[in-house]
Amino acid sequence: MSNSIPTQSTKEKERILVVDDERGIRQGCRRILQSEGFEVETAENGNEGLAKAKESPYDLILIDLMMPGMGGLELLHHIRELDPEIIALVITGYATVETAVEAMKQGAYDYIPKPFTPDQLMAVLNRGLETRRLRFERQQLLEERDRKLLEVANEKSQTRTIVGCMADGVLVVNREGQLVLWNPAALAQLNLKNTTETGKPLSHYIQNDDLQKLIDYALSPEGSGYTMISQEIAIGHDGKKVLMADAAAVKEDMGETLGAVAVLRDISELIEIDRVKSQFVSMVAHELRTPLAAIEGYIDTCLACAAGDDPETHRKMQQRAKERAHSLLDLVNDLLTVSKIEAGKIAKKKEPLAARELITRSVELLKEEAARKKISVDVKIPERFPDMVGDRNDLERVLINLLANALKYNSEGGRVTVTVSADDDFVATSVEDNGFGIPPEDVPRIFDEFFRVEDEKRRYITGTGLGLSIVKKTVESHFGRIEVKSELGKGSTFTIFIPKWRPDDSTKRG
Ligand code: ADP
Repeated sequence: MSNSIPTQSTKEKERILVVDDERGIRQGCRRILQSEGFEVETAENGNEGLAKAKESPYDLILIDLMMPGMGGLELLHHIRELDPEIIALVITGYATVETAVEAMKQGAYDYIPKPFTPDQLMAVLNRGLETRRLRFERQQLLEERDRKLLEVANEKSQTRTIVGCMADGVLVVNREGQLVLWNPAALAQLNLKNTTETGKPLSHYIQNDDLQKLIDYALSPEGSGYTMISQEIAIGHDGKKVLMADAAAVKEDMGETLGAVAVLRDISELIEIDRVKSQFVSMVAHELRTPLAAIEGYIDTCLACAAGDDPETHRKMQQRAKERAHSLLDLVNDLLTVSKIEAGKIAKKKEPLAARELITRSVELLKEEAARKKISVDVKIPERFPDMVGDRNDLERVLINLLANALKYNSEGGRVTVTVSADDDFVATSVEDNGFGIPPEDVPRIFDEFFRVEDEKRRYITGTGLGLSIVKKTVESHFGRIEVKSELGKGSTFTIFIPKWRPDDSTKRG
């Protein structure tokens, strides 16, 4: 039997066991107690009483101290071993008051001397049962408190775990503005060292006026009226890292401010994307304006007959307008290609491609241009060479772009050489020229949209500045990469690395 008090409802009938060898006492007690609404069992000796107590639990036991066989004290001992919380009342004659005292020392709750009236019995018994009920309630309260404490502890650790796992930074301060909770994301965002120390003002951990002001405002009577206050906060001296901080007062049910919480999100990348996008839009507008303005100029001149009546002059102007319109079309086409690549809309085939075939076709397309500038184009490909994997049209466009640049940024009589090599994973195709080369400071920027090297030699060479950016994006969309080596005045080598074809690529067509 458990040591705790049975968790029975006090509304249930309380159970009483009367153990007395005197039949009259047993019957008298049964009658009185039943009329009071108790459930009563009787036993005429210690052994029978003990057996009944073992069978089912009782709230109270009345024990006659003077019984033949197992005496009352011995029974009390056994009964209390079974259930230490049971209320035991001993019934005793005048002659055995000392034994009654002894019984109480051994855990009996009270004693009642014989003979007793029903009222006397009920007075002692009710006191005993009341004590038991109070003990029972107290025990329940203690258990409830323990359970609540455990719940609070569990909730606290759950909250810590959840806050700890959040990708957004979290800072919590109490109403005095002292830091009481933070998570690792907040430490990383604010460039703080890992610390376990809490309870100091926020300024002890980080000196950031904007963050401090935001939290102070959230704590203030004025600011705590808002559901949330949001502000961008620059971190560090260069201001490159920007956090979006959402702060709010933490309030208890009655509306009193207990502290404030700030949730931090790193928006540096979004700001950078935004900047690049608007820069791109303004560059596009700028690039479109020049040829459009020129075309408009030619048309205006023709319309105003400012060029006189000479049909040849008119034809030349129309020819120039057409050339500008053509370069405008090139630009728009390049822009469309860029946006398609970025949106991932170019449907790619995954097919085995022989370097020889791709390169020969691309060189063939530029044959006339090479001949016009008297530039020799050599292609060096070993007899047996592994295929690469990719989209034929895409990779042909890449090679044409690189070859066209090698011819465009080259002097008459120059030289272009195309070579291939392969390692375990990639097929590398290099386009080498001995042309103008690229100034070292410009090399890192040549893959940027609209970037063009500007120097005396290239002054009259037209272009959009989008070719190499398209090349790079295309190569990367094939899981490849591009490298460049260049020396001003000596020449450049562009090398693209495209994954090798493997037989199981055919099962992953996409
Ligand atoms: P575009 O040729 O339309 O200007 P690209 O993106 O193809 O644009 O090239 C960017 C810049 O890189 C060019 O303006 C050119 O100055 C330089 N460049 C590209 N390829 C070569 C090359 N093979 N040799 C020298 N300069 C090159």
